Amino acid sequence: MSIKVISVSKNYSNQKALKEVAFSADKGDVIGFLGPNGAGKSTMMKILTGFIKPNSGEVFVNEIDVLKEPLKAQKTIGYLPEHNPLYADMYVREYLQFQALIFKVDKSQIEICIKKVGLEEEAHKKIHQLSKGYQQRVGLAAAILHNPSVLILDEPTTGLDPNQLVEIRELIKELGKEKTVLFSTHIMQEVEAVCNRVIIIKKGEILIDKKLSELKQNNQQTIEVTFDVKVDEPLFKKLPNVITCKNNDGFTWQITFESKEDMRPKIFDFAQENRLKILELNSKNKNLETLFREVTI
Ligand code: ADP
Ligand code: MG
Repeated sequence: MSIKVISVSKNYSNQKALKEVAFSADKGDVIGFLGPNGAGKSTMMKILTGFIKPNSGEVFVNEIDVLKEPLKAQKTIGYLPEHNPLYADMYVREYLQFQALIFKVDKSQIEICIKKVGLEEEAHKKIHQLSKGYQQRVGLAAAILHNPSVLILDEPTTGLDPNQLVEIRELIKELGKEKTVLFSTHIMQEVEAVCNRVIIIKKGEILIDKKLSELKQNNQQTIEVTFDVKVDEPLFKKLPNVITCKNNDGFTWQITFESKEDMRPKIFDFAQENRLKILELNSKNKNLETLFREVTI
């Protein structure tokens, strides 16, 4: 197991930032750690990387107890903190050499990492001369210098323009091929673009922890249909796989089915059999964005 978090709670004075958080990650996981501002994402990441201690709970990275052996654990973790603190006056290579020294990494790794994050053209410049997107690449290069197997990235795409955003997402995806990645974001589409798993956190509690494919493979579908006359609920019992039906005024109904099959043709047949005319018919299937809004508001 690359990451194992067991019942972690963290309070800042009397404010509860994390409440018995538990999750684990395996090799090959690229996890979107999704939640609104103040949800506890950065706090969880600082605990995972051994920079702050929880009030209770246990944290293991690559089977190493982070609370007992933070330095040993940090050798296997690449961490890009929120706001990516860099030394703006340093040259890119100079900064990476400095980082290599700290991590006792062979200097040969520097050019390898520059190449991995696509910094070749910019590596001769000072950090403050780079765009925000390229500065993020410097942060990523520094995070992977010691070839960690677990990458923890705290809002790596915040503040990037749309092109940079796409590039950094691609880079994270690429890095995810050989590492376990946990990255935080408050953008649902980002999770869809990059991850195979999503953990949704709100007010310090995990609300959803699922494979993206599971979330997408939701077998429920809701169809909104308007008839030309008022319809009574018992009539819908004739339809197969109905879970709920809600009506606004007797004319318009939202019918939720448990079925993989598209139920719209069944509703047409149903209307015909019962001599009803359909005035309008819409599929109201929830996408991930709707789901995220529902669970985080
Ligand atoms: P996120 O990264 O999801 O935006 P954080 O982990 O930064 O959330 O914060 C979670 C909660 O803990 C917030 O309410 C925040 O105000 C509070 N918090 C974070 N760091 C501190 C701190 N050093 N001292 C006091 N409160 C903090
Ligand atoms: Mg944060």
